[in-house]
Amino acid sequence: MSTCRRCLIRDMNREDLRLMIEEWISHIPKENRAASDLVKARLRLCMDCSHLQNGTCQLCGCYVEYRAAHRYQSCPDLPKRWEQE
Ligand code: SF4
Repeated sequence: MSTCRRCLIRDMNREDLRLMIEEWISHIPKENRAASDLVKARLRLCMDCSHLQNGTCQLCGCYVEYRAAHRYQSCPDLPKRWEQE
C-alpha cells in the first residue's frame, strides 16, 4: 500500500478497511459514541496533522475514524489537538 499522508481510510479506496471500521464503530455502545458533528470536527483536525498517515495516527496506532468516534477518547498528541467530550 502506498503511503497517503493526512488521508482518512474513507478517502483511500480501501473498501475492505472502510467497511471494517464502520463495523467496529457500529459496535461502540450508543452512550459512548461521539456525535457526528464532533467526529467531523475531530477528523478535520486529524487531516491537518502531520501524524496522520494511511488513516492511522502515528502516535497511538489507531485508525482515527474509529478513535474519533468514541465520545471519551482524545488526541494522543501533547498538547492534544482534540479533547474528549
Ligand atoms: S489523533 Fe491527534 S496526533 Fe493523531 S492524527 Fe489525529 S490530530 Fe494527529
